[in-house]
Amino acid sequence: MEARTLWHVSYVRQLADDCSNHLVDPREIVAWDEQFLEKIKNSADKIAGKIVEASKKRIELAGVVEAYQQAKEARRVLDYGDQIRLASEIARDPRVVADFLSRYRFALLDEYQDTNIAQAKMLKRLMPDGYPVMAVGDPDQNIYAWRGASLHNLLAFPEQFVLGDGSKARILPLEVNFRSGARILSLANELIDHVSPQRRAADKVLRHFEDLGQGTVAVGLWPDQSAEAAGIAAEIARAHDEGIPWREIAILCRKKRLFAPIVEELRGRDIPFEVIGLGGLLKMPEVIDLVSLLRVLEDPMRNVALARLLRGPRWRIGHRDLALIARRAAEKNRSLKEQLGDLDAPGDVIFSLAEAVAAADEVEGLSDEARARLAHFNAVLTELRAQSHLPLPELAQRALDMIGVVSELDASPSKAAPAARHNLANFLDRIAAFQPLEGEPTLGALIEWLDAIEEADEEIEAAQPTDEDSVKVMTIHQAKGLEFDLVIVPGLARGRRSQIFPDISRTWNAYTSPQHIPTDLRGDAEVFPRFMGNLSQYTDELKVRQEEEERRLFYVVVTRARHRLVCTAAHWYYPSGMFEALTESLGPSEYWREVRDFPEVEVIVESDAPEENPLIARRAERAQVWPQPAKRAPDALFPDGLAAAVTAARAITTPDESLFPPIEAAPPARPRALNVTSIVTYAQCPKKFYWSVIRPLPRQSSRAARIGTVVHSWIEQEGKGQGTLIEPEDFEERGPELDQATMTRLKEAFRKTRFSGVPPVMAERPISLVVGNHIVQGRMDAVFERAGGGWEIVDWKSGRGPEEEGAERWQLDLYALAAQEIWGKKPDELTVTFVYLGDETERAYPARTADEIRAELDGALTAIAAGKFEATPGPQCRFCDFKRDCAEGRAWLAADAP
Ligand code: SF4
Repeated sequence: MEARTLWHVSYVRQLADDCSNHLVDPREIVAWDEQFLEKIKNSADKIAGKIVEASKKRIELAGVVEAYQQAKEARRVLDYGDQIRLASEIARDPRVVADFLSRYRFALLDEYQDTNIAQAKMLKRLMPDGYPVMAVGDPDQNIYAWRGASLHNLLAFPEQFVLGDGSKARILPLEVNFRSGARILSLANELIDHVSPQRRAADKVLRHFEDLGQGTVAVGLWPDQSAEAAGIAAEIARAHDEGIPWREIAILCRKKRLFAPIVEELRGRDIPFEVIGLGGLLKMPEVIDLVSLLRVLEDPMRNVALARLLRGPRWRIGHRDLALIARRAAEKNRSLKEQLGDLDAPGDVIFSLAEAVAAADEVEGLSDEARARLAHFNAVLTELRAQSHLPLPELAQRALDMIGVVSELDASPSKAAPAARHNLANFLDRIAAFQPLEGEPTLGALIEWLDAIEEADEEIEAAQPTDEDSVKVMTIHQAKGLEFDLVIVPGLARGRRSQIFPDISRTWNAYTSPQHIPTDLRGDAEVFPRFMGNLSQYTDELKVRQEEEERRLFYVVVTRARHRLVCTAAHWYYPSGMFEALTESLGPSEYWREVRDFPEVEVIVESDAPEENPLIARRAERAQVWPQPAKRAPDALFPDGLAAAVTAARAITTPDESLFPPIEAAPPARPRALNVTSIVTYAQCPKKFYWSVIRPLPRQSSRAARIGTVVHSWIEQEGKGQGTLIEPEDFEERGPELDQATMTRLKEAFRKTRFSGVPPVMAERPISLVVGNHIVQGRMDAVFERAGGGWEIVDWKSGRGPEEEGAERWQLDLYALAAQEIWGKKPDELTVTFVYLGDETERAYPARTADEIRAELDGALTAIAAGKFEATPGPQCRFCDFKRDCAEGRAWLAADAP
């Protein structure tokens, strides 16, 4: 089997998950499939051929799953499934059970419909017959089957957890719903009634709580997805005018593909909104721009990301110019292939779009404007590449500064701008908290993670909306447990081949899908239909189960609404994926019709199906206005542009202090993830920290910082024995100030240190520490073995040493803390050292204890959380980027002047 493709990787992961969820050993799969193949070996028809093929593939996959489990064991890593499986194994030990029973007299299992088979088995092992246990759950809310939750657990609970006398556990109804109005609940009851009684709680009927009133239900059907999104935005604006706060409105989508047009309409109407979950965030334009830049930084072959950047709001390269560059890349590819002759894998030799952009001078016919913008783009990319060793949060922040999205949003008077800023802050927080399961938090690992999240159909990350007064946009799966005054459910549409809601296209059949364990080995086999030899009949029965799963999802989303529920659909949708086309309509699904036909439902609009797809014309309209003008219409506030206004403001020597209102006036959100540099900044001056991290002001790219970047990069390569890869001329390309003489002097200074030629234990090592509610991240320059044992942690500085280190010592303290807590070193096994290449000095210190460091760090983080950002002027003001804007700093500098 070709176990190299992404499909096969996902098959292995799925089969491994199934093994964990059902406590099945991969060898049991092999045994089952071998026996099964033996049984059907004489059946030679076509259908049997498919089944035989799946069985054979599964035997091979099971072998890979076994090797995968061994590899995890060898690396001493666990995934979520392993944790449950191992906990279940531990629960076999009678001593563990006795200890559990001695500590807990009763057990209450909440949301039991969300448990998987392995969890139920573990609980059963811990709680023998007669033990007082209560499970609370609702089989109609079993919506996580795709990630292992089994409906069987709740339905079989009365037989599995029997009373002391062997009788079944009792079922106590909890039918009064304290959330939704009566009409909404009646609709929910009718919708779920289509599920077979064998797969529901017997006789369950939701009853409403009198005080909640009737509630209203409405439907809308529009010609196309954009019109549906506009209708939704209009409905929200109207509801808000009638007094519903933004935060009490939610748009709950079956699929992430519905987000983009809705978000566009919300922005157009200045409706504040928040997209919940990383998968949704990755669809926001401001985040797409940043991620595209990071993707191109990581891999120049990411042509789609590069094209998005070039066409995006920062560089605005028109189609014509972009086509010329693409043609240049194609011509280069052709000529490369001709020169290299027949290749086994010609894809390995590709002249990427990025290379054509880098060599834009050679592309004929480009407009002057495009040339200037491409030159700027190349400069930005070069500068960012030189900084790619930085910790991820810092790198992302710099990338963000360079695309200028934050400045644009800050200058935007739109009410939607704060939501966009919030999206970005949220996304940066997620980057800061990123930790791969294995290896280091590198840019490559981050991009792989983001790619996986973007490709996943369902949101694979838990997410919680904030308390901000904004409309919440999220997937239905994320909305479980939440409630809102107004809930809008878009996309109740289904076509002949494409489906949005319900979507039964994911129906799988273990007899033809090798990535699933055989149904007979499942712990919940009894809720599955029996395979009697007729594959199409069996598939139809599985589709009924899948349709029921979708119905439960619909039931869950309907019951999120307190007072008003609006269900919408359209006839035409933008295609999703490679197999859908703009020529295939969907139209309202049976769910939409069932709601429309429910008594007393308000029909907002019910449009006929247009024969032609209106989205084709909409796309054409957008294409016609492209390329947009490089300069937008003059802004009333900044008629000469924001950059000119900033330059003019900086020229004022005595700025108007009223431009800088008291910081306490509007405290913005405090970041949960901080890097070591920002902690040092806080220790130097909380006000400087405020302007660097909390509400960043533009700052200059300093020569010192650029030199520092290059020197670190060179020393790291030197430590690996690859010093010659970076030569003095390389430095010249990174900026005119990085002159050869300076670099030669610093390199010589490094070679004179006692560390030159000594291989470090580790270099440029990322670290991540959890301190209270914060994550502190950084990167240790180098760690060397001490002569008498232990470690010496070294931080390279390209400048001169100060008379005495102050706040800078925090940097070494944090590294010492990491060495103690991550690698288990004792304080007396550590030395921490600054090496100043600028004046060829070094300062070495013994490490402080983890307790001492944590106490001080806690103090600083608590002060940050409490919003304490007073200025503490001192010598650091001389090098502070913000001294022009800081009255305290200017006063200190004036008093200090000779
Ligand atoms: S100028 Fe001085 S006091 Fe003002 S923010 Fe900078 S370091 Fe702090």
